[in-house]
Amino acid sequence: MSESVLITGANKSIGFETARRLGEAGYRVWLGARDAARGQAAAETLSALGQDVRFLQLAVDDEASVQAAADRVTREDGKLDALINNAAIPGSYAEPINETLADIRHVYDVNVFGPIAVTKAFLPLLQAAGSANVVNVSSGLGSLSLMADQSYPFYGANLLGYNSSKAALNGVTISLAKALAPLGIRVNSANPGYVKTDFNGHRGHRSVEEAAEIIVRLATAGADGPTGGFFDDEGVLAW
Ligand code: NAP
Repeated sequence: MSESVLITGANKSIGFETARRLGEAGYRVWLGARDAARGQAAAETLSALGQDVRFLQLAVDDEASVQAAADRVTREDGKLDALINNAAIPGSYAEPINETLADIRHVYDVNVFGPIAVTKAFLPLLQAAGSANVVNVSSGLGSLSLMADQSYPFYGANLLGYNSSKAALNGVTISLAKALAPLGIRVNSANPGYVKTDFNGHRGHRSVEEAAEIIVRLATAGADGPTGGFFDDEGVLAW
C-alpha cells in the first residue's frame, strides 16, 4: 500500500507545489481545497502527470466539512502517513490598530482552529499509519524571538492577526508534538520563507519550489525524524 498525504489549501501556490512534489515521490495525495471547482482542476492537473491524486473537499474552518473529509479518507484509505496543515489567510493587511476583531477572529478560525480541527479529525488515521508526520506551515512572522528583534528583515511586517495566529500555531505544534509522540506521530512547524504567491500579491522573493522543500522534508521524515521543532531550509528557527 502506498504512503498517503493530505495537504490542506492545495489547489494553488505552496500547497499545490507540495502536492506535486509528494505525488511525484509516489505518495497518494489527498488534495484538500475548499472550492470544488478549483480543487478538482488542480487534482486533474496532477492526475494528468500520472500521479495518484484525489481531490478532497475541505474548508478548514467548517467542522462539518473537516469531518466529512476524514470520513471519506477513512472509507477509502484507512490511514494517513502525513498531514500538512497549509491552508491559511493573511487577514486584511490593515494596520494593527485598524484591524477589526472580526477580521482577527476569522484569521484565527482558519490559521489556528483550522489546523487543530483537521489534526483532531484525522488523528485516528494518522495513528493507524503507525508512524506519521504532521507539518504545520507556519511563518517567520510567527516567531516571537524574530519579530521582537529589530535586526530581523521582516521586523516591520506587523500584522496583528496573522503574526499572532502563526505564533499560536507554533504553540499548537509544541503541545501536540508532546501529546502525540507516544502514538508515533511527529509534529513540526515549517517556515517556507517569503514566497511569491497570491498571499502577498506576488511580492515574495522565493519560489514555490523553494518553499515546498522544507515542508516535503518534514512530511517524509522517518521514525527517527524530529518532533516539536520549527524549521526552515537552513535548519532550526527560534520560536
Ligand atoms: P495562498 O497562495 O493564498 O494559498 C492559500 C491556500 O489556502 C489556497 O489554496 C486557499 O484556497 C486555501 N485556503 C484559504 N482559506 C481556506 C479555508 N478556510 N479552508 C481551506 N483552504 C483554505 O497562500 P500561500 O502563499 O501558498 O501560503 C501557504 C501557507 O504558507 C500558508 O500557511 C501561509 O501562511 C504560509 N506562508 C506563506 C508565505 C508567503 O510568503 N507566501 C510566507 C510564510 C508562510 P482558495 O484558493 O480557495 O482561496
